[in-house]
Amino acid sequence: MDQHLRELYQEVILDHSRHPRHFGVLPDATHKAEGFNPLCGDKVSVTLILDADGKVADINFQGKGCAISQASASMMTDMLKGRSKTDAEALMDGFLHLVKGEDAQGLSPDDRETLDVMSGISEFPMRVKCATLAWHTFKNAVEEGAT
Ligand code: ZN
Repeated sequence: MDQHLRELYQEVILDHSRHPRHFGVLPDATHKAEGFNPLCGDKVSVTLILDADGKVADINFQGKGCAISQASASMMTDMLKGRSKTDAEALMDGFLHLVKGEDAQGLSPDDRETLDVMSGISEFPMRVKCATLAWHTFKNAVEEGAT
């Protein structure tokens, strides 16, 4: 990755971690889960509303930890709001490939571009768990976290 792009991506990550989107707890959440990454000490809790059509009507997160874990959670909530559960799972799948440096061909060009900010993580295997924490927590919330 060229130096200029790397710096730009770092800016985006820092901006998300300093000014997280959709931060807080949804009081009327239908699903929730908490995640913890013991390798780094990151914590993320996700609350969301799945509507009758299986769409993510709203989603929030709260957390504490390194910039990557919090920025990833912030980006995730931004991207997942308004998507169907199936789309959300496909997006997560693509993201998990991307941060491991694998081919993420399942992603739409727009999603690929947004998530590319996190693609540099694949050079730092220790940080992959920071980047994926929020996404795993989302999955747990949807699958097992009905309130
Ligand atoms: Zn971390």
